[in-house]
Amino acid sequence: MASSTRAMSSLRAAQNIIAPRVITRASIATSTLARRAFTTTRPTTSLQARPNASSIVRSATLSRQFQRAYADAASQKRKPGKILTTFKWLWRLTYLSALGAIGAVIYAVYEDRNPQPQVQPDPTKKTLVVLGTGWGSVSLLKKLDTENYNVVVISPRNYFLFTPLLPSCTTGLIEHRSIMEPVRSIFQHRKAAVKFYEAEASSVDPDRKVVIITDNSEIQGDTSQTEIPYDMLVVGVGAENATFGIPGVRENSCFLKEIGDAQLIRKKIMDCVETAAFKGQTEEEIKRLLHMVVVGGGPTGVEFAGELQDFFEQDIKRLVPEIADRCKVTLIEALPNVLPSFSRQLIEYTENTFKEEKIDVLTKTMVKNVSDKTVEAVATRPDGTKETITIPYGLLVWATGNAVRPIVKDLISKIAAQKDSRRGLAVNEYLVVQGTRDIWAVGDCAVAGYAPTAQVAAQEGNFLARLFNNMAKTEALEARIHELSSSLNLKPGTNSADAAREIEECERKLRRIKDIKPFHYTHQGSLAYIGSEKAVADVSWWNGNIASHGSMTYLFWRSAYLSMCFSTRNRLLVSIDWLKSKMFGRDISRE
Ligand SMILES: Cc1cc2nc3c(=O)[nH]c(=O)nc-3n(C[C@H](O)[C@H](O)[C@H](O)COP(=O)(O)OP(=O)(O)OC[C@H]3O[C@@H](n4cnc5c(N)ncnc54)[C@H](O)[C@@H]3O)c2cc1C
Repeated sequence: MASSTRAMSSLRAAQNIIAPRVITRASIATSTLARRAFTTTRPTTSLQARPNASSIVRSATLSRQFQRAYADAASQKRKPGKILTTFKWLWRLTYLSALGAIGAVIYAVYEDRNPQPQVQPDPTKKTLVVLGTGWGSVSLLKKLDTENYNVVVISPRNYFLFTPLLPSCTTGLIEHRSIMEPVRSIFQHRKAAVKFYEAEASSVDPDRKVVIITDNSEIQGDTSQTEIPYDMLVVGVGAENATFGIPGVRENSCFLKEIGDAQLIRKKIMDCVETAAFKGQTEEEIKRLLHMVVVGGGPTGVEFAGELQDFFEQDIKRLVPEIADRCKVTLIEALPNVLPSFSRQLIEYTENTFKEEKIDVLTKTMVKNVSDKTVEAVATRPDGTKETITIPYGLLVWATGNAVRPIVKDLISKIAAQKDSRRGLAVNEYLVVQGTRDIWAVGDCAVAGYAPTAQVAAQEGNFLARLFNNMAKTEALEARIHELSSSLNLKPGTNSADAAREIEECERKLRRIKDIKPFHYTHQGSLAYIGSEKAVADVSWWNGNIASHGSMTYLFWRSAYLSMCFSTRNRLLVSIDWLKSKMFGRDISRE
């Protein structure tokens, strides 16, 4: 009993010590209330039990124990764990990055809307005529110091097209305008004004140094053909689709090179679907209409087949379920495998993924004839025997490679040194068209020993911009040296020592500038989307190569292409399109 009284009293004493601390930890409002409550109860407590010496010692010990326990709890609360700290930092980093990204976008949009005033072309300077507004030409114009030349651009297309995302436009995953950038808005950011004519170069006269241009658009004025004189000419007209002379290809198939092609394919896919869903359609006809055949197993054909299968799986199954199981994609390739420029492991991965996605891959199969409803091809069987097959189709997409444009053929025919060129304009290591002076070629229309890709065209364009900037500087320095040296010691009152020093300085600069290395292509890697949110990538790393595939590679593919888009506007539009399609599905309305 005594011990229990003692225990009670020591506990109360301990409460008297601890309670105020607890209150001080509480909010200010509750602490005031609590203090008042303690003040009223304290006299009762002290009347009930007056602690003796031993109870004071015990209560002190107990209070210390309580304090220690309390302190431990407090210190645990105060010191968050490593995981929590990491999360806190990650969160801070995320929102700081988001703020930074928003700031960067706002700044880029502001810059885009408020270009600097431009210098007007100087008629005393050389006229540089650029043909085309594709990868090669636009990369050149982006880096060129336009103040050094009178720049004239001629192209039937008044926009730059980001071709790597073109297959996504065929199914409506991305809207076509999201990957187009008007060239006039590109040119308004150049230091000096650039002249643009929306026209086709129909002929080049290297002797008179003129380009004949024709306006082939729907609306034409009184003048639709004229001549543009040049001092320097860059040919960047790309290439057209190769049909290899196979009968019926041009008349019956769709190509996939320009925006108009992607729009036509998008319309035709939906036309096939709606016609197949028409009341009373026979089973055989439904199967034919929903059979989409892609010819060409390169990156364009593979990406298109993947996008198409995604469209059927994700949207047609949901919106037109009654016929969706009859949708079928077949890829035809003349070589033994698809994606011949990728590593073996990635080729196998792609072919296996296509099998899982139920895309039929017919390799070693050569198309021989195309009619409005069927493709006739010769397939080589594993035992070497050949078999002619007839494939009914609803939509046929031809993605087999490049052929030379008429303007390039015309130029080749006028240059004796080019008489053996079959694939385009043969150029030297500085991209000068062989057998000419003052004519350069970039991109798919140039034969420089590299694959016809956007990467090559862009690097060639950048190289030419550096070359031309250097040439302009060289000419300016040479003119200055000539001016200084021709007046040296002639004019009284001029300081010859200063002039000599300036000549020396100019010559030093000249030596540095004149040391221009020939064009060298650096391959950064190859990427391709293969459907089902999977991609393959052969990425150059140091002196080797990294082959990767799957869903993570797909995220890499998306981020790489997004970062490569021409402008902030394109990046924003493409991101919104991806988000829109994810949320609401693709827009299947047929325009
Ligand atoms: C669907 C698709 C996807 C692709 N994906 C990739 C990829 O992922 N990675 C990659 O590296 N490459 C890719 N490529 C290849 C790449 O697009 C080309 O290699 C690249 O466009 C070549 O650039 P270029 O400047 O030579 O020609 P283009 O970009 O084709 O531009 C040619 C320009 O010349 C203009 N022109 C045509 N005729 C005339 C004329 N008579 N007079 C004046 N101008 C004319 C055209 O209007 C156009 O503006 C892809 C191509 C396609 C079609």
